[in-house]
Parts: sequence; structure tokens; C-alpha cells
Amino acid sequence: MARYTGPRCRLCRREGTKLFLKGDRCYSDKCAFERRSYAPGQHGQARIKVSDYGIRLREKQRVRRMYGIQEKQFRRYFDWADRQKGVTGTNLLVLLERRLDNIVYRLGFADSRSQARQLVIHRHFLVNGRMVNIPSYLVRVGDVIEVAEKSKDILPIKTAQEALARRGVPEWLELDSEKLKGTVKSFPERSHITMPIQEQLIVEFYSK
Ligand code: SF4
Repeated sequence: MARYTGPRCRLCRREGTKLFLKGDRCYSDKCAFERRSYAPGQHGQARIKVSDYGIRLREKQRVRRMYGIQEKQFRRYFDWADRQKGVTGTNLLVLLERRLDNIVYRLGFADSRSQARQLVIHRHFLVNGRMVNIPSYLVRVGDVIEVAEKSKDILPIKTAQEALARRGVPEWLELDSEKLKGTVKSFPERSHITMPIQEQLIVEFYSK
């Protein structure tokens, strides 16, 4: 599966917001967005009037990049969300939150979603006692996600657990930090997703 391998801070600057793609660094004064909060490139500081289409495009790109998902797969999530009952935008966010790499990040087993993705691929996690190495695996209510026994002492997981206090665990998940084990108590509600996302703009983008 293809993934973005370019400079990640550039994405934050392009989207005009912090996407928290680099773990600890995002909370320090080394954050590139804190230092240069304008778009990258020669015309980054120019005043450009953004069209309605541009506003919707940027919102879609922002969310896609936040979760580290390629366009084709993001579109598939949208189509799926659209077929479900309820509000399409909320359905989309819930699907994105249910990804295993996001859960690993939310439980503080990784510093960022990209690190979580790598740790999942490298077989460091079990879901309901079985090893799962697919970052896009969608968890269900009641699923138990735990760090594999052999991986409990690896540095990235230990460091990420220490840094978790800054973010906290969302209320729809439960973490046993002794056993490095988390449970999905429920699917997230819209109010649980506190990142500044205007999902209606994404719906409008794909519905044009
Ligand atoms: Fe974005 Fe983090 Fe880089 Fe800051 S340090 S620009 S939040 S990825």
C-alpha cells in the first residue's frame, strides 16, 4: 500500500493547521508550524483568494493527511459512510477512528499514527488474542487490543506511553497501562472527536 514519504511538517504548513504527525516534536518549540505558520513554497506567504471548491478540497486533504490515508482508500471510506444509516460525515469520522493504527495511537502505544502503522505492520499487537498486522483493520465494540508479550519492552511503545499523559485516552476506549491492553467500550460519538474538523465540507466535496 502506497503511503506518503515526504516531509510531514510540510503537510501541516500546507493545511494551515497542526496535524500532529511527529509525536513529541509537535508539542515542542521545534514544531515547524509554530515557527512558520504559512504554506510552504515560493508563494506560501502570498495572499490567495480560496474558492469554495478550494475550501472543501483543503478540508478533505486535512483529514486524509491527519489519518495518513491515500485518496483511493479515503474515497472508499466515504462511499461506505454514505451507504450507512445516519449522518455521512460522522459515519466517515467513526470509520477512520476505528482503524487499528488509530486505536494504537489513541491508546498511547505509539507517538503518531504513522509510527502506529509501522508498529502494527511489524506485528507488535494482538486483537482479541490474535496477531493483526493490518493498519486498516476496523475494530469492533468489545475488541481487546494489546501489545504482544515480546514487544512490551520495546522503546517506541515505552516512550509513547510516557507521552500519553499529554493527550489522554478518549472516553470510548479503556486502557490498562499495567498490562498494555486496551478495550473498545463503544464507537466514538461525534462529540468525542475533538479535532477541529468540518466533515460537512468533505461530504460537499464528494457530492458535487
Ligand atoms: Fe506538524 Fe508536528 Fe511537524 Fe508541528 S512538528 S509541523 S504539528 S508534524
